[in-house]
Amino acid sequence: MSRALEFASTVRHDGHGGLADDLATVDGLAAWARVDANEELRLRVVELRWAVRSLFAHAVDAGERIDTPHLMPLDEALRVVNAAAAQVPRAARLEWEEPLRLRYVDSATEGERLLADLATSAIEFLVSGERAELRACPAPRCIRYFVKAHPQQQWCKPSCGNRARVSRHYRKTR
Ligand SMILES: [Zn+2]
Repeated sequence: MSRALEFASTVRHDGHGGLADDLATVDGLAAWARVDANEELRLRVVELRWAVRSLFAHAVDAGERIDTPHLMPLDEALRVVNAAAAQVPRAARLEWEEPLRLRYVDSATEGERLLADLATSAIEFLVSGERAELRACPAPRCIRYFVKAHPQQQWCKPSCGNRARVSRHYRKTR
């Protein structure tokens, strides 16, 4: 799974009408991203995650889902993602030893690097060919995105297909 999709998938339906969020706590962020996290970084990463999900929702016309209240308008999502990607300005440095060497240097913190990496992978994902196969899972309550692996794939995973069939059957037999 691409990093962008993994990032977007850090929040999902909890099975009881709410959201389960891997990034709901500082420890959760530290475990997911393997960084020294704090609350300030967590808030920025979560804002970036909703911005990325807003772009995904816009890209695939996801419609109304339980995460819709967290989504941002397109221009705001773009501003958040582009600002995060710009967190690590880097400079070329010439080192004069034979053979001459170019090294890229920056003075970013670990948190800034995380934000920039996540935002950059989202941008790369959205301009890649994968975007054409990006789907919002249409199963009841599911808020996952997935990249279609084969033309017949309709759901993010088989259990979502089963749940959708059961709920269709339930509606028909009532
Ligand atoms: Zn699903």
